[in-house]
Amino acid sequence: MKILKKSRKLDEVCYEIRGPALERARQLEEDGHRIIKLNIGNLAVFGFDPPDDIVRDVIGNLPRAGGYSDSKGIYSARKAVMNYAQERGIRGVGMEDIYIGNGVSELILLAMNALLDDGDEVLVPAPDYPLWTAAVSLSGGRPVHYLCDESADWQPDLDDLRAKITPATKALVVINPNNPTGAVYPEPMLKALLRIAREHQLIVFADEIYDKTLFDGESHTAMASLADDVFCISFGGLSKNYRACGYRAGWMILSGPRAHAKDYIDGLNIVTSMRLCANVPAQYAIQTALGGTQSIERLVAADGRLARQRDLAWQRLTAIPGVSCVKPKGALYLFPKFDPAVYPIADDQAFITELLEREKVLLVQGTGFNWPKPDHVRVVFLPNTDEMTEALDRIERFLADYRAR
Ligand code: PLP
Repeated sequence: MKILKKSRKLDEVCYEIRGPALERARQLEEDGHRIIKLNIGNLAVFGFDPPDDIVRDVIGNLPRAGGYSDSKGIYSARKAVMNYAQERGIRGVGMEDIYIGNGVSELILLAMNALLDDGDEVLVPAPDYPLWTAAVSLSGGRPVHYLCDESADWQPDLDDLRAKITPATKALVVINPNNPTGAVYPEPMLKALLRIAREHQLIVFADEIYDKTLFDGESHTAMASLADDVFCISFGGLSKNYRACGYRAGWMILSGPRAHAKDYIDGLNIVTSMRLCANVPAQYAIQTALGGTQSIERLVAADGRLARQRDLAWQRLTAIPGVSCVKPKGALYLFPKFDPAVYPIADDQAFITELLEREKVLLVQGTGFNWPKPDHVRVVFLPNTDEMTEALDRIERFLADYRAR
């Protein structure tokens, strides 16, 4: 029989959040083990239900959601996102500039597919949400990673970023609040990034899916609101801020000068038309969500469940010898560092697999986020305090054994 091989396009593509360790976790579950899964920011499985008003709206609209919609999305959803853009200070956004997708994930893939020719370079942060790197590679582009500096609260290292710009660089990806580090960038940093984009005529892809998932009274500035003269595409959605990952509802907003980008926008329209439209019932949730009062803000307030879980996880992790962690200001993750002198980890995939086998806790290794060294892991702080405590007890025991070797 002729061997069926996956496409060579996938040779450079990796997405470890649902990687081999998850498969092993499934096998262990089949063997009767209970695995504490701290590997994915899926709020629903930890008892965070979507707001009632959006559930009711989706159900109520089901009878009229049986047809395809406009490829860019239904009117009410796009209108609501347009208003949202205006509220966030992004100027000059019209209905034509809004695209609704099956989550931000689909829109990232469409935006990269429409843009990149073989060899085009895109600057992506390290660490990153790895779909960005994977989408650039799958579209024939070359992801080039600029470092974020752990010693500076994980802010982008602008010197490193500048050094990595070449004539082939087309775009700059900024993930703010950041997954996996939890960093939130202050305005001067966003302005500095925009200056670089302006100088080198780069498109800015601003992934702001966690723009309401903010702790300690932190505020978020929409990057596109700071520059009318840089072409930006801002991404957002219902998955995190509205606890509706499974609805698959996201959007992208085009802003800044578009005249020179007409051909690319034609490309975006072609790829969005090819997939006909986003899931229509879920689109009905968008207007209600954005106009409602049930976003994640209550949960991230100082006495909210998410803030308490973050604090617990951060305190427990940083009390372990040889473990340090910048306290996240946004998003749903901790990205602790293991001091190599205490934990000489050669292969972080093997490290998290050993933790899984021994303690039945599933994490994702730092290199899965394109971090260049095997000295970090990502920990999701979504479980309630009892389950989080149990997970941390197990992690602590594993690390104590590791140190005793
Ligand atoms: N961008 C970031 C930074 C994320 O963390 C995620 C999901 O975890 C996504 C995009 C994808 O979101 P969606 O569920 O809208 O596809």
